[in-house]
Order: sequence, then structure tokens, then C-alpha cells
Amino acid sequence: MIIVAMMLADMTYDGAALQLVAHRAAFCGGGSGPDAATPEQCASLATLVLPYASTAPITWEIYPSPAGSFMSSFFDGSRAPSLLFLAHLGFWTHSTLVLLFLNLLPHSKHFHILTAVPNAFARDLAPRGRLAPMAESAEKLMEAVGVAGELPDPASVPLGIARIEHFSWKALLDFYTCTECGRCSDNCPAHLTGKILSPKQFTLDLRDHLYGREREFLEREGGPKGTNGVDIHGNGHDHDAHDDSGGHDHADAQEHVEEHGREAEGHDDHEHHAPAFPENPVISPPVLSKPIDLIDHVIHPDVLWACTTCRACEEQCPVLISYVDKIVDMRRNLVLVKGEFPAQLAKPFQGMVVNGNPWDLSRMDRANWAEGLGIPMMAEFPKAPVLFWVGCAASYDDRAKKIARATAKLMKAAGVEFAILGQEENCTGDPARRAGNEFLFATLAEGNAATLNAYGAKGGIKQVVTTCPHCFNTLKNEYPDFGCKLEVIHHTDFLLGLLAEKKLNPRKPVSGKVVYHDSCYLGRYNDIYESPREILRRIPGVQLSEPERWTKQEGLCCGAGGAQMWMEEQNTDRVNVKRTLQLVDAVGRDASGGTIASACPYCMTMLTDGLKAQGLDERIAQLDVAELLERSCALDEPLGIRAAMPKDPPRVAPAALH
Ligand code: SF4
Ligand code: SF4
Repeated sequence: MIIVAMMLADMTYDGAALQLVAHRAAFCGGGSGPDAATPEQCASLATLVLPYASTAPITWEIYPSPAGSFMSSFFDGSRAPSLLFLAHLGFWTHSTLVLLFLNLLPHSKHFHILTAVPNAFARDLAPRGRLAPMAESAEKLMEAVGVAGELPDPASVPLGIARIEHFSWKALLDFYTCTECGRCSDNCPAHLTGKILSPKQFTLDLRDHLYGREREFLEREGGPKGTNGVDIHGNGHDHDAHDDSGGHDHADAQEHVEEHGREAEGHDDHEHHAPAFPENPVISPPVLSKPIDLIDHVIHPDVLWACTTCRACEEQCPVLISYVDKIVDMRRNLVLVKGEFPAQLAKPFQGMVVNGNPWDLSRMDRANWAEGLGIPMMAEFPKAPVLFWVGCAASYDDRAKKIARATAKLMKAAGVEFAILGQEENCTGDPARRAGNEFLFATLAEGNAATLNAYGAKGGIKQVVTTCPHCFNTLKNEYPDFGCKLEVIHHTDFLLGLLAEKKLNPRKPVSGKVVYHDSCYLGRYNDIYESPREILRRIPGVQLSEPERWTKQEGLCCGAGGAQMWMEEQNTDRVNVKRTLQLVDAVGRDASGGTIASACPYCMTMLTDGLKAQGLDERIAQLDVAELLERSCALDEPLGIRAAMPKDPPRVAPAALH
């Protein structure tokens, strides 16, 4: 309303000023006709139109105001006094409204006009895939959790995020900066499939809660007290009225969804989230308020557990608001301090503790996938320059094992000297960390870092190659916090390097359309979009296609990240099915012989399940980029170009192209 009024005032000023300039000669040219203005009016006119006082005709270049020109047509024929009045009216109305607007700004959604630039300036410059550690070691973290557990109010300790006051100033600035544009939710796989999570609503709920308690925070910091030294406690939130019961179930979540409406644009209807500025401050006892836990009172726990940590929201946000760190921080508090997490996560947590993998399969079987390939263990070949970090999925999942075998065969064919860790390899801890179990993650990271550094000290492991984007991201971006800095390369980058050096020769055509699915942890987290596509382009016969809109930065998540791989979805609308259908459309829903390519074992599981769920697995193949390349290189066929390839000379692994 104010903005519209400002625009009208502006147009009025421009329209009147244009008329004054156009008829200046008639008004102030020294004549004595009916239009002649008084000397005072001429002086005022000169001030008003000073920037445009040229005698040259008014043109677009000197007065680019289409709206003002339009308005001036209504003032045609007006005399100098009327035009001066309108110009002054427009000028002062506009100025007054600007001052009024500036006063209202901090209390409106337009506050982002002031906070957007500082928020962008202060954004985290650390790698996008890095979550900050909670403590310098697993031991210190456990000590802190133990100390908190002995307090009467463990949630008062900022271990993760339990309360609004635990957020950093930058996170609070994020809340104030949201423009409510909704781009985050429009690209969120959880929101798109009807889960309780809407990232925009998450931010608005926290912001409104913050607004509702701002007076309390000001007073805590030694700010102004209420009248007569009595606290003005205008918090309209009746948080105590909320059910304090912990835990959650999907039925509750569904009710919550229905209550608030998935597509809810506004947030004023959120009774317990509504900003609570008191119109008539009431005098309350000096106790400010009882501490308010965000979970259950402001954010439903299922909101947190619906997130796949895909970063689509962050990629789309025009003011660079972050989500994954906040959601994981809130999960951390739930897991470490309250011991609350979805029941399905208990087994993966235990598996990572006992057997070093979330499937909880025997550690002894970790290298079974490599049977017959003649790949040495690091223990046997400690100076191996390249470590093939296999990861849990490719070690234990029968389908994903084929990715590991294809990659290993290609590396052997290209003469790469590499070894694997076998039973010495443990889960990197990515699922534990994204699920909030920072202690488990830190324990695994410390163990793996010690193993890797020990081989590094013996002169081995110059590079680490992995087929799993989650391992890749964690080893590359998070292990440096644990003292392990290595060159980590995703297998698509590494294989493309081998192709560029002509160590591999794709020769056998792979016919049909191929659509590539971007893994979130490869693309949005680490900007690897082109290497997998370039490998596909180099395979003869491949017709590479792209999903409409939902590709690269905007690609939809497969639904497995953020430990979702081990959790049940909150409703029957599956993320993996939605993604699969987008990809199927790109190769033609009715055509057979198409292929969905991926470069992540988690994505493979989700997309294969998606094809099966739609009865399309017979017609459309789902293959890793390495499997397609291996087929094309026809490594098992001794004749032809393969026979002419170099005889696997020992060589230093090529640098990645990225
Ligand atoms: S990270 Fe992905 S799933 Fe989580 S809120 Fe953002 S868009 Fe939604
Ligand atoms: S994309 Fe950013 S600015 Fe837009 S609603 Fe989401 S968080 Fe707010």
C-alpha cells in the first residue's frame, strides 16, 4: 500500500515537472499573457526542474520517465500554480512515505531490503559440503554431552540447536532476510512430495518465534526495561499451552500438514508462530519467560527428519539463506542431548559402530566385491599412489558392487596403480553426521583419518578415488577438520582424466537415449556436472538427453541423502518415484532401450526402485556412468582396439580435470 502510494506520488511529481519544463518559456519567458507566472513561482519552478532546465527539447535520455510522461498527459493545459502545487504535493508525499516506510521496515517482511546485502556479504565461505564440527574431538564432544546431561535443564546448553538463542547471529540474520519468495519450497523434494517440511515455512516459523521474543532478548542484554522498571512482557505466544510431550509420529505430522496446508503462502495463520507484538503492553511478573524448546513448540520434529540435505533450497534462495546447517544442528541436539530420532536409524547407527557400515553387515565381507579382480590391499602395497575408497554401498549392496567392479576394471585397464583398504575401511560417517549423530561421525572420521594418514606417512596414498559422492564430499570437505588432507577425486573426474590421456578407449556403441541424473552431493555440493556428461558424450552411440527444467543445479534429489536412505518416507508420495518419472520422460516414456545414468550408489538404489515401482525396469536400464564406459571399452573382449592399447604400464594416476 505504502509502496503504491509512493509510486503514485512519484508519478505526480514527474508529470507536473515535465509540464513545467515543457512550458517554461510560456510561464517564465517574460511575457504577460494569462499563463505568465509570478517571479516567486518562476524561482520555485527553476528549483523544481533544475536538473532538466535545458532549453533543448525534453527527450528520453534526459528525462527517462514513461510513467511520469503518462501522468503528465493528465496535466496538459494546467497553469503554473496548479503544476507547482502538484509537483510539491508529489515530492513531499513521497518523502514522507519514505520516512514512514523506513520506520515500518524492521517490522515487516520488507526488512530484507536492509538485511539482504549484509547477509550475502557475511555468508559462509567454507566449502558448501562442510558441516562445522561440534567439538575438536569425539572425546571432547562426549564430555560436553555428559556435562549437559547432568544439568537440570540439558537443553540450555547449546549442543546443536535446541532454542532460538542457540542460533548464531548469522542464522538470525538469515531469518530476517527471507523475502518470502518461496523458491526454496518450490524446489524442495520433501515439500514437492507432500512432506511436512517446507523450507520457507521453517524460516518463517523461526523468524516469527524470534520476533515474538525480541523484547525478552533486549531486556536480557541489559536493554531498556518497561515502564516504571517493570518488565513489559508482551509475548502473545502461549507456549506453555503447547503439549510438552516428546516424540512424534507420522500421524501427528500429517495432522500438522493438514492444519497448516502444504501450499500455505502466509504464516499469520500459525497460531503459535504468529508475531506477538503487543498492541497494549501488559505488565507481567519480572520473570521473562520459561525457556522454549523449538522442537514441538515451534518446529515439528518431522520437519527436520523429512530433509534430504539436498541443498536445492539454498541453491535457489536469492538472498543466500542456508538450511542444511540449521536442520542438522537441530537434529544434533535431538540425537545427542534428547536421544530422539526415528526408530529406523537405530540399526544403521549400530551398524556403523559395530561393523563400520550402516547395513550392519560383517566387516569381514567388506572386500568380497573385489573377488577375482586381483586388487591389492593397502596393507600389502602401502606405497600405492592411488587409494580406491570403495564406500559402504559399493562394498555391500549387490547392485552397487558392480559400480566398484567396473571402476576397478577400468583403472586396471588404464594401468593405474591402486589398492583398497578392505577391512581397514570404515564408513566415512556421512549418514551419521547428516542424521545428527555427530559423536558417531567424529569417532569414524578420527579412525579413518588415522588410517589414511598412517599410509600417507609410509609414502602411499597421493590420491583417493571414490565412486560415492557422499564419501567424496566427506573425505574432501570434512576430513581436513580431522587432520586428513588428501586429493580426493570422484570416479567420474578420474575416468574422464584417463579418457583424456587416451588410457581408455570407448569403442563399442551404446545405443539409445541416455539421461544423466545429477547427484546432489556431486553437483550442488561440489559443482561436478560436466565430467559424467562428458564421459557419456565420448561413448559412441549415446544420445544424451536432459530432463526438462529439473537438471543440474535444479535437479531433483533422488531422496536418499541426509540419512533418508534408512528412513521411511512420511507419506506415500515417493521422492524417488517423482525423480524417476522426470528422468523417464527425458528418454521417452514409451520407448524401450533408454538408460538412466547416475554416478552415485545411493542414487542407483533409489532410481532402480523407482523404475521397479512404475514397472519400467524391463524397458529402461539404470547404470552407473562407469558401467556404461566399461561396456563401451569392452575390456573383456581381447580383439580389436583393446588389443592395441598399451600393456598397462605402471603410471602415476592422472590429475582430475577439475
Ligand atoms: S536441503 Fe533439500 S530437502 Fe532439505 S529443506 Fe532444502 S530443499 Fe528441502
Ligand atoms: S528462497 Fe530464500 S528468500 Fe525465498 S522464501 Fe526461501 S528462504 Fe526465503
